[in-house]
Amino acid sequence: MVWDAYKLMTTPECKYCGQKEHIRKHGKGSTGAQRYQCVACDKTFQQKYIYIAYQPEAMEEIITRYQTGESTQEISEHMKANMSTVKRCLGQADLLEKA
Ligand SMILES: [Zn+2]
Repeated sequence: MVWDAYKLMTTPECKYCGQKEHIRKHGKGSTGAQRYQCVACDKTFQQKYIYIAYQPEAMEEIITRYQTGESTQEISEHMKANMSTVKRCLGQADLLEKA
């Protein structure tokens, strides 16, 4: 599955200091969401939206919505996924023009 491969390559950014070069996995949170630890500031956090959005069903919904004419902004709001997630998903599917 191309989506699974993409999920593994994608590293979240630290919500405290913003860097994403030195993030490592830090077990699972109480809800089962992946937790990450920022090596730079030593804080742990969850990237719940990104994790949800990379599930294949969510990917399909993003693509379907885009193909039926919704903007990336609208998809982002409806799916409660952040804009970069939506754009990355569409980019991976070769649906979004590259900047
Ligand atoms: Zn940090």
